[in-house]
Amino acid sequence: MNPDPIADNPERAELRATVQRLVADVAPPERVAALDVAEQFDDDLFVALADLGAFAVGAPPGAGGSGDVRDQLVVVEELAAGPTSMAAFAIAHFAVTQVVGTFGRTPAHHELAQALVDGRARCAFALSEPGGGTDVARAMQTRGVRDGESWRISGQKMWTSGAATAQHVVVLARTSPIERSPVHGVTMFLVASTSRMCSVSTSQRSKNAALLGATR
Ligand SMILES: Cc1cc2nc3c(=O)[nH]c(=O)nc-3n(C[C@H](O)[C@H](O)[C@H](O)COP(=O)(O)OP(=O)(O)OC[C@H]3O[C@@H](n4cnc5c(N)ncnc54)[C@H](O)[C@@H]3O)c2cc1C
Repeated sequence: MNPDPIADNPERAELRATVQRLVADVAPPERVAALDVAEQFDDDLFVALADLGAFAVGAPPGAGGSGDVRDQLVVVEELAAGPTSMAAFAIAHFAVTQVVGTFGRTPAHHELAQALVDGRARCAFALSEPGGGTDVARAMQTRGVRDGESWRISGQKMWTSGAATAQHVVVLARTSPIERSPVHGVTMFLVASTSRMCSVSTSQRSKNAALLGATR
């Protein structure tokens, strides 16, 4: 009989057990429920995950990462089984680390990728919009327009996990019209969330969700 192709190898099984132990210690169910009710991000769990090296999992090697996307899935699965909002946050954190670590060109990008891996920085990934979910590439209203050496980005995003505490946000915007496929002509911008042109707020809809630790 063939072995299960998606079964954990020994290293992945050890990673899974390690994350399970950390979650049991730092984020037991009653704490997760209390933080959701209080609408608070779990800073202690974030720090514990960073200390464990969880944000290095699957990150580009140049930024200090190791492992691959299947290892990331182990981290996400074990978080999703308990502190689910941190699982949503981790997906965005992994995505931004990948984008900045792979496509960043400047020393500042390199430093940011390392800070994301170490847990010294937090970023958010702003793709979804009020008028577009699964079909966001076709429905995207956020626009990026050249203005001399700069870009002007205008639009509104929602469901942006961790946006309230992120120092940077990767914002996806349409920069040229749809031609062959809606995913063409969409550009990712790294935006400082401290910029006076960028505001973050919580909506009643997100307040009603049970995943506030991540979605605020
Ligand atoms: C906790 C949480 C955290 C999130 N964090 C982020 C984040 O950090 N950044 C971000 O950009 N987004 C984030 N999102 C948004 C998420 O990534 C999805 O894009 C979004 O939830 C899907 O859009 P929607 O809810 O409008 O669903 P819809 O797109 O309206 O889909 C509703 C249902 O219809 C189905 N469906 C849609 N289109 C079709 C089709 N053509 N054929 C058949 N079935 C279809 C879908 O599978 C789904 O079951 C988050 C969402 C949640 C719940």
